[in-house]
Order: sequence, then structure tokens, then C-alpha cells
Amino acid sequence: MDKLVYLDHNATTPVRPEVVDAMLPFLRENFGNPNSPYFLGQRARKAVEEARAKVAALLGAEDPSEIVFTSCGSESDVAAISGGAWQAHAESHGKRNQVISSRVEHDAVRGILGVLRLRGFTGDMVGVDKDGLVDPGAVAALLSDKTALVSIMHANNEVGTIQPIKELAALCRARGVLSHTDAVQSAGKIPIDVKALGVDMLAISGHKINAPKGVGALYVRKGTRLVPTITGHQEKNRRGGTENVASIVGLGVACELALKELGHAADYQRMRDRLEAGVLKIQGCRRNGHPQRRLPNCAHFSFEGIDGHHLVVALDMEGICVSSGPACSSGSSTASHVLTAMGVPPHVATGSLRLSLGWSSTEADVDRLLAALPRAVEKLRRVHAAV
Ligand code: PLP
Repeated sequence: MDKLVYLDHNATTPVRPEVVDAMLPFLRENFGNPNSPYFLGQRARKAVEEARAKVAALLGAEDPSEIVFTSCGSESDVAAISGGAWQAHAESHGKRNQVISSRVEHDAVRGILGVLRLRGFTGDMVGVDKDGLVDPGAVAALLSDKTALVSIMHANNEVGTIQPIKELAALCRARGVLSHTDAVQSAGKIPIDVKALGVDMLAISGHKINAPKGVGALYVRKGTRLVPTITGHQEKNRRGGTENVASIVGLGVACELALKELGHAADYQRMRDRLEAGVLKIQGCRRNGHPQRRLPNCAHFSFEGIDGHHLVVALDMEGICVSSGPACSSGSSTASHVLTAMGVPPHVATGSLRLSLGWSSTEADVDRLLAALPRAVEKLRRVHAAV
């Protein structure tokens, strides 16, 4: 069988060998608890602090102490949104009870907004334009003395559209409102400078940047207070639980490599553009996402007359891993909330395909996809027309 073609780096990424090598000693002989005072513990502590500095460097943080380690991107989002909302609520004696977000957020964000609504917060979700972009004017119109926090994602996980976070954070700052951004998809793919962006909090996840699953980090600007989601003295009382030392070490190395290789984004983009041009030759295919303000590694399409889930299965049979974006239920696709918010009609949205390149991608992968996809689309359309 041909080599597996993996074109789903927005879903997860392979762990790089350098990351595995750095982690192994902390799963074997260096098993100490970083909170223990003796040498074995302090060896782990040193490794955690070195990793913290590497994550801080990737994000342009002023100080490594602004990085809090978590178990994943979802936890980072929840810690920022729930922690920030409750803190602002408490400091304002209950006056600030509104959270603003967008209609294209990841489920981690949508979920905690739902929980906050159950607890008495109001949640306002701004819409997006046809390219998936939030209008800062729409956020400005909603901001008031009641706003506790604004959370708008940096880059979308389905279509890759990059939001105007700098403008949004400036609006929040002017009103004394906390700002958070979910940078799980943008970290390591485009440069991030939290100082320039001006956000108070920013979430990342290990497994999207060639570190293992089950580790994440939250940037918390110095002086920003949060009600902790997991209580305990670790992470300076900001996140309880004994640190996942090996995975944190892995995340640090992945961030170090990502920072060093940010310049390679242009290579991904060239590969992505070739892929995109080839795919767009297929009849009845449209591209989704902003034409320019978009992650360099991903491309998103909708095909008329087919089901995205069936396309994923057809390509899997050719050894090619891709995603249809929308959640799959009972073997067929439902229109994603992101495409729906962008105004894509349901019958078009359900025929979606997301292709995302990464560290392991090659030109040969692009060739394989471009050879297999037209065949798969044609076959599925024939089947669809016959039923
Ligand atoms: N936010 C975005 C934009 C994502 O794409 C994801 C994962 O797909 C997450 C948050 C959640 O990250 P994790 O899988 O580490 O919980």
C-alpha cells in the first residue's frame, strides 16, 4: 500500500521525534514531582520552567510567568472565559454579567458560554461576513458597562479565517473589559505577539503543533486575575493539579521548533495554493474562507451534489486522511455552524472538505490528493444522481 497521506493537521499533528526524545527521560528516570524539594523534584521543576520560557517566546509574552500550563486547548479556553467572567462579575459586584463571542467559535468556547448562560450571564454572539470575518464595529456596538469579557478566536479551525484581534482587544481595553482569544489553530502557523495583539488571555494546544495530546497553555497577562477552574496551589494558584511534566517538556520543544520554523509558512502556503488551484478545477466546487486573511496551511471547499462525510470515506479508502469539517451523525454530514454563520446554504455546506497541511506534508501528498479527489467526487456524484 502507498504511504499514508495525512492532510488533516488542523485536527491533530504527528508528534515530532525531537519532542518525543525530550519527553522520554521525564517518563522514565526523571519522574519527580516538580513540587518536591529534593533533587529529583527540582530537576522536573527546572524542565517545566524551561518549557514555560519556550512557550512564552513563541507567544511574545513579556515574562514566562504569564504562561499557565493546562491539559488541552479546551481547558485553556474554559479557564480564560469562565475564570475571567466570574472574576469581572465579582469585582463589579455582579454588574458585569455579559460575555461577547462570535458565531464561529470552537465547541470548547460555545460550550462554556452555554454554561455561563445557565448561571445568569448573557451571551451575545456576533455574526460574521461571507468570508467568516467578525466586524469590530459589531463588537463595539455590544460593549457596555455590563460586559465582563470578550472572546473571539484568532483563526478559525474550519475555514482558517484570521480575525482582527488587535482591533478587538483595543476596543475591550478602552472599556476596561477582559479579552481572550482562542489561538489553538494559529499558534505555530502564523507569528503571534501577545503584546502587539493586546489581549489579556490567549489559549493554545499541544497537539496542534506537533506536541502530544493532553497538554495546553494559557497566556495570562501580568496583573490579570482569574477565578481558577481547577483549584490547587500549582501554577501559582492559577491551575491546580500536579504538572504533566513530560508533556509540558514536549510542548516547550514543539514551541521552540515552531518559532524557529515560522518562516516555513511560505512553503506551506505555496503547497496549499497549488493544492487549492488543482481542487478548484473540479466542477461545482467553491472555496470557503477569507481569500487573504487566512491560515497559510489550510484550504476549505464545498462540492455541490455530494456529502462531505462520504468524500472523507472515499479518500480514506485511497489512504488519504482529510476532514469534512462538520460533525458527522448517522453516516451523513450536517451543515457546520461556521459555514451556516457565513451564509453558506445547507445543501452546499454539507458537501464540505477541509485540507490542512503541516510539518509532515510533501508535494507528493498534494499530487496524490489531486489525483484521487476528482475521481472520488465524480463517483459520488454518479451514485448520488442514481438514488
Ligand atoms: N479551539 C480550536 C480552534 C480548536 O481547533 C480546538 C481543537 O480542535 C480546540 C480549541 C480544542 O483543543 P484541544 O483538542 O486541545 O482541547
